[in-house]
Amino acid sequence: MKILYMGTASAEGWPGLFCSCDICSHARKEGGRNLRTRTQALLDDSLLLDFPPDTYCHAVQYGLNLGGIHTLLVSHSHMDHWFPTDLIHRHEHFGHNAGGVLNVYGNEAVEKSFYEHILIDRFKPHPIDSCVHFYVTHGGDIIHSDGWEIIAVPADHDHREECLVYICKKDGKTVFYGHDTGRGFSAEAWELLTREKYDLVSLDATMGKKPTPSYHMGLPDAEATFQKLEESGCISSQTVKVVNHFSHNGEMTHEQLTAWGAERGILAAYDGMAVEF
Ligand SMILES: [Zn+2]
Ligand SMILES: [Zn+2]
Ligand SMILES: [Zn+2]
Repeated sequence: MKILYMGTASAEGWPGLFCSCDICSHARKEGGRNLRTRTQALLDDSLLLDFPPDTYCHAVQYGLNLGGIHTLLVSHSHMDHWFPTDLIHRHEHFGHNAGGVLNVYGNEAVEKSFYEHILIDRFKPHPIDSCVHFYVTHGGDIIHSDGWEIIAVPADHDHREECLVYICKKDGKTVFYGHDTGRGFSAEAWELLTREKYDLVSLDATMGKKPTPSYHMGLPDAEATFQKLEESGCISSQTVKVVNHFSHNGEMTHEQLTAWGAERGILAAYDGMAVEF
C-alpha cells in the first residue's frame, strides 16, 4: 500500500497567508519542504482523505485525475478539510469520462455545507445527483467502498460537530489517519483504535513543540499517543509512524520537525511525501 501526503498544513497554510512570524518568513525564504498546503492524502491511488481548498492545486501538482476516485472520507467541516464547491465539477459537463459515482462520507455539518455549496447553481434535477452521493457517517460506523473497509472513529476535536478520524483497511494492510484530533480520545474511540494492528499511523502534530491537552496535538502529545498504541500492541517495530498537519504556531521549521522525528523513528510529513508500506 502507499500513501501520498498531498498537503500537510493546518488551516492557515504554511506560510500563513497574512503572517510574517519567524517560521513563515523562514518558509518563504527557504521554499521547498518548508512550503505546505492544506492537509489532504491519497491512499493507494483510490481513497481520498479530505477535500481542502488546495485540492485543485494538488491534482495539478501530482498529475492526478480525480475522476477515477470513488471514495472520499471527510474528517469534519473545517475549511482546511472541506471545500465542497469544487465537487460541482464532478458531473458530466466538466468531468468527461469520470467513471461511476464518488461516494462521500462525513458528519452532518459536512453534509449541510455540501448541499449549501453545490446548490449554488442549482437546477433540478442537478446532474451532480447522479455522480456524487453523500453518506452521513457516525463514530463506530463501518464503511465498505471500492474494496476498502473503513471504520469511523470519534475524534477529540471541535465538539460542535461529530469530527471523525478513520481506520482504513485493504489487502491486509491497516492505516490509522488521525487528522484533526487531540489525544483525549473517548473510551469508545480507544476501544475502536486498540482493536487493530497498524501498518501506518498518522497523527496530528499541529502545535509542534507546544504540548496541547485537547483539540489538536503537539509533538509531545503525538509521541505519547504512539507510545500508548505501542503499549496496547497496535504498533510494532514495523509500523510506519508519521506526524502531520502542521501550523507555524508550533514554532518549528520543517528541518526542526524532521530532526525531532529522526531521533524517534517518526516521519515528519511534507507536501509530496509518498510512503510505501
Ligand atoms: Zn485541520
Ligand atoms: Zn506565521
Ligand atoms: Zn479542524
